[in-house]
Amino acid sequence: MLLPELRAEVCRLHALLTANHLVAWTSGNISARDPASGLIVIKPSGIGYDDLTPENMVVVDADARVVEGDLLPSSDTASHCYMYRAAPEVGGVTHTHSRYATAFAALGRSIPCVLTAMADEFGGEIPCGGFALIGGEEIGQEVMRCLRDSHSPAALMQNHGVFTIGKSARAAVKAAVMTEDVAATVWLAEQLGAPIPISAEHIAQLHHRYTHIYGQPTEEIIA
Ligand SMILES: [Zn+2]
Repeated sequence: MLLPELRAEVCRLHALLTANHLVAWTSGNISARDPASGLIVIKPSGIGYDDLTPENMVVVDADARVVEGDLLPSSDTASHCYMYRAAPEVGGVTHTHSRYATAFAALGRSIPCVLTAMADEFGGEIPCGGFALIGGEEIGQEVMRCLRDSHSPAALMQNHGVFTIGKSARAAVKAAVMTEDVAATVWLAEQLGAPIPISAEHIAQLHHRYTHIYGQPTEEIIA
């Protein structure tokens, strides 16, 4: 069987989506790219999270053709593959319909950068792309268009949900968790009044500190 370790990793990471209450029923998906072969491991379509195993993950090539697997890959596979082709540094993609972030998406609204945690993690707002139908590459194209001029590893898709990228699948999952966390806080803040924007200069300083100085020296190894 191809890529047994990456299959196990992608399967294990899906449990973080349910543990963090980011998905309902079979919605959401994670993929990871094997740097050596360029092959991509992705969740099978329509399988419940409790039934995911390393063996039933699907392996596809960069053009979304199934290389190994008995089940159909996620209906977002073509978009994941587009994102990998567009960004060689990307090693993982995560997609959820997490509640607070998707509420912003339903309005076609970006999440404004009004928290230092957002400046740290996203380097600015979390942008919201336009509407795209599911099934082809259009979502992937729109996500990458949104992220091109942004420090953010996460984009919202109008009327749909959250797509995140990372150097690894684990990093992409972390971005999905943090997206929902800040979306919930910004939503709460908006119930109290008008959140105060952080200046572009302060956002840049916070993002630089977080991405260059913060954390343990070994963090890159385990991230
Ligand atoms: Zn979706």
